[in-house]
Amino acid sequence: MSGNIDLEALCHEKGLRITEQRRIIARVISESEDHPDVETLYDRASKIDSGISIATVYRTVRLFEEAGILDRHDFGDGRSRYEAAPEAHHDHLIDVETGKVIEFVDPELEALQKVIAERLGFRLVDHRMELYGVAIDRKRD
Ligand SMILES: [Zn+2]
Repeated sequence: MSGNIDLEALCHEKGLRITEQRRIIARVISESEDHPDVETLYDRASKIDSGISIATVYRTVRLFEEAGILDRHDFGDGRSRYEAAPEAHHDHLIDVETGKVIEFVDPELEALQKVIAERLGFRLVDHRMELYGVAIDRKRD
């Protein structure tokens, strides 16, 4: 969830040339409370500027991703989803019935992953963790 990360400021820090359309796309990502895919970003951005094409959105997210200010996720449905690279690490649990994505952090899990890597002879530098589940107490008709 990118909520309060200012992607536009990060663009400046990284020295990315920021056009008006890139600024709009950056703002849409920064204001997204979910993990939107390119089509969703395009829907939101083109409401602000109808001149923005889906190709521009694709190019811009690729540019932001290469600059390391945008994280791409694949939550198992074959779609790439994006969020502004979070300052603090978090992992994701995906509700496979609704597609809802829940963010979590667990210090024990983080520590355990380091231990496992070390046991295998590695110093952990990064990881990706996605849990897939169905809600236990969801009401069914
Ligand atoms: Zn997230």
